[in-house]
Amino acid sequence: MDIVFKCPNCKQELEVDAAATGQEITCPACSKTLSIPAADASNTKAENPVTPPVNPGREHRHLSVPVSDAPVATLIKKALAPLDSIAKDGVRELKIKTIRHGDCREVGHDNFDKVATDVLQKIGQENIISINTINYSFIELGTSKMLTDFGILIVYKG
Ligand SMILES: [Zn+2]
Repeated sequence: MDIVFKCPNCKQELEVDAAATGQEITCPACSKTLSIPAADASNTKAENPVTPPVNPGREHRHLSVPVSDAPVATLIKKALAPLDSIAKDGVRELKIKTIRHGDCREVGHDNFDKVATDVLQKIGQENIISINTINYSFIELGTSKMLTDFGILIVYKG
């Protein structure tokens, strides 16, 4: 005897053996966990005349309901993804990014902290090897004076 009921989440009609009453299954249509209701006159297949006797699509679902391996396999595949990216990390090249204070100045604004913060967030904390301070000299336009300024040099994996 089969119980015919609808998934409370996606309304997909499901058909399972009455022996499975009370068990939790994963809906094959929407992958939500649901409980199989108790068998009664209104939902058992034999006494439900509105249920078409032959429906290949529904029969397919009937077979797939008790098999909960499919979503588990999907989860395992998803879980492997981070391992893949870790493997790729191993072959990442070392790179450097130099941020010069003078390059971050606009008229009336000193954007060095903001620019440096944005760069660090883009690289990601786990990829940063070291951050070194640098000093550099430049000739100021207009006054032609030799000035020194500072910056940072970030060594990272990218
Ligand atoms: Zn569903």
